[in-house]
Amino acid sequence: MQEMRDFSQAPARQVFIETFGCQMNDNDSTRMLGLLEKIRYVRTDLPERADLILVNTCSIRDKAEQKVYSTLGRFRALKQARPGLIIGVSGCVAQQHGERLLNRVPHLDMVLGPHNLHRLGELIERVESRGERVAATAQSAAIAEGEYGVAAKSAGVKASISIMRGCDNFCSYCIVPYTRGREVSRTAGEILSETAALARTGVKEVTLLGQNVNSYGKKGGSGAGFAELLRRVCMTSGIKRVRFITSHPKDVSDALVDLFDERPELCRHIHLPVQSGSDTVLGAMRRGYTRDEYLEMVLAIKERYPDMAVTTDVIVGFPGETEACFSETMDLIEHVGFDNIFSFMYSPRPGTDAAGFGDAVPADVKSTRLRVLQERQREITSRERSALVGRTLGVLVEGASKTDGAELTGRTGCNRIVNFAAPRAVAGEIVDVCITGVMPNSLRGEPCVRPS
Ligand code: SF4
Repeated sequence: MQEMRDFSQAPARQVFIETFGCQMNDNDSTRMLGLLEKIRYVRTDLPERADLILVNTCSIRDKAEQKVYSTLGRFRALKQARPGLIIGVSGCVAQQHGERLLNRVPHLDMVLGPHNLHRLGELIERVESRGERVAATAQSAAIAEGEYGVAAKSAGVKASISIMRGCDNFCSYCIVPYTRGREVSRTAGEILSETAALARTGVKEVTLLGQNVNSYGKKGGSGAGFAELLRRVCMTSGIKRVRFITSHPKDVSDALVDLFDERPELCRHIHLPVQSGSDTVLGAMRRGYTRDEYLEMVLAIKERYPDMAVTTDVIVGFPGETEACFSETMDLIEHVGFDNIFSFMYSPRPGTDAAGFGDAVPADVKSTRLRVLQERQREITSRERSALVGRTLGVLVEGASKTDGAELTGRTGCNRIVNFAAPRAVAGEIVDVCITGVMPNSLRGEPCVRPS
């Protein structure tokens, strides 16, 4: 049994953390910072001041491993100047490459896979007091009680909560089921406690995170399905808004769709990654739905909730994607009228099935398709947003605008950024804002008073 060290009298130390990738990684970084705070680390934005440097990696993008090596290279001189500096790598690249990272990077002390974040303090201790270089990448099929037990801290009015980890879907292009392991859910009790703890610190909006939140509770958890969990989170005192991401289209339930009617806290925004509009490509990607099934579901949601913002992900240039397949994707985005899309050119990930597929699409064709798709979506986004001018929307105020400190910024329930002038700081409040204009990435507005 690990002896508990008393850190209350220890001198404060500083941690610099660099995070790549998705919201799950952001959340993991927040979790690590919460754990480090307990052993008297404070965050610094300056690596040269740090006693501990953590690089939280992502392997979704191309050349992820090289990026890690070049990032670590930046810190080599710091380690040479101060051998007591501890450098660690966490995240998906840490999981994929494990000890190999230690072998390749002599100034690296610690490699930490996503299932081992709760062991951070113990590993630091081993590096510090025994001079070990450690790699912790074992995966576990369950989430131990208290493993996520550090209430994530938030710097503002919004916070995210991991409700599960891993994925069982094995889309042919995706590395996540290998790096983050098989799907398993946290208990509803823990998630609700974390939500309540965040609310007590002033958080008004929480985003529930998972690779496929719709399958929450299928493995692990405590009996509640996703819609039930969401309902309970919405009912947490002090929480004004609830979002969730990512929602796999094949697992959207009627109970989830109904909940938008029932709970005013549930934001009218749903992210439903379609990836392609072609059945041939969807089949090769192993997405588990057809174009028609996706369209039927998404159009029904939009019809029932006309103010729902629907966003999506699209991959262009997947192996075997012909011009005809790409046209079907263009046709689908036209048909749905997404509020926004996140689009990427396919690039193979070593270790995935699709990396072995033939029939690669040439790079120039991929980039042309991406440009065509993004240009058209910009027009659709602008059209969707222009329709909001003249309407009054509730905006959760996050603070001063980055571009003009005299203005406030916040987001609508449908996740659009709104900048507006207001007579007083009202961070954390939801104010009614009349939309007056559309900018490339945001809306402009002015606060309006509802007739009493
Ligand atoms: S649903 Fe597919 S794309 Fe998403 S994490 Fe799982 S395997 Fe990857």
